[in-house]
Amino acid sequence: MSSTLWERVRCPDCLGTLAPEAGAWRCGACAARYGGAEVPCLIGAKSSLNASEVATQDSVSDLYEGVRYNRDYSRAYHRHTLDQLVSIAAPRGEVLDDGCGPGLFMEYLRDHAHRMDRYVGIDVSSGMIAKASGRRARGAGDREVLLQADSCRLPFADASFDTVFVRGLLHHLPDPGAGMREVARVLRPGGSAVVLEPNKTIISAAPRFFARKGKHFDEDHKNFRARYIRDLVAASLRVDATHFYGYLAYPLLGYPDVASFDKLLPLGKLAPALMAIDDNLARLPAVRSLGWGVIFLATKPAS
Ligand SMILES: [Zn+2]
Repeated sequence: MSSTLWERVRCPDCLGTLAPEAGAWRCGACAARYGGAEVPCLIGAKSSLNASEVATQDSVSDLYEGVRYNRDYSRAYHRHTLDQLVSIAAPRGEVLDDGCGPGLFMEYLRDHAHRMDRYVGIDVSSGMIAKASGRRARGAGDREVLLQADSCRLPFADASFDTVFVRGLLHHLPDPGAGMREVARVLRPGGSAVVLEPNKTIISAAPRFFARKGKHFDEDHKNFRARYIRDLVAASLRVDATHFYGYLAYPLLGYPDVASFDKLLPLGKLAPALMAIDDNLARLPAVRSLGWGVIFLATKPAS
């Protein structure tokens, strides 16, 4: 991006340009004002947020911090998944992390994305953004930017990003199609989107159904099949590749906040083998589509 990021930030309601005004921003077109203390909040009056889902995300931000990413084996597992994501599409140029959560991907990319010029993370949850904010590198300046924003109304000009990551986001959105249209809008022609989602299969459906009774799933939390997600992505972008992942390691290692097996199994010792088994199962044609997760690589065609 030749211009600065702040020249590409827009009013989420009308995409008008924003000008600083008394410690906040004012939209030059519709006069809406946006503030925010440590992290700017660019959620406009037109956003129709699912309030209970946002509240759920605010409350699970502590659970992620204290449990999901706090055990050696689960941290190793999620790191392995990030390795896969980055091998599918090397982040380059201006990178948007749409639904950045507590900022672990920002930390990861700092060391693993050498062609990235800038990281921009957005999340609708103030709890998640606060956690992410604590992970910003000291002195990162505009190379690591966090904004509280609605994925269905991204506060950026068209064609602002080279790479957009959409990790486990779509099933949280009130309108996943609108979320994907926004990804396509802010991507530059030739830019890539990497969309990761849980995949509903005959194996994952029943355990997920019971897990959803737990306190960190909102009742509107969706559970999509891979084909449905593919159609959502393909409606806005060209789908170039589909990768399934997560067979044994995903349910056993990945989500101790949802279901913990470390009292039954020596997961610390088993983790490397479980991850290797998963990687092999992902290559077996008869089995691969049973993955608990699916990743789509999609491109915005250069017009
Ligand atoms: Zn406006």
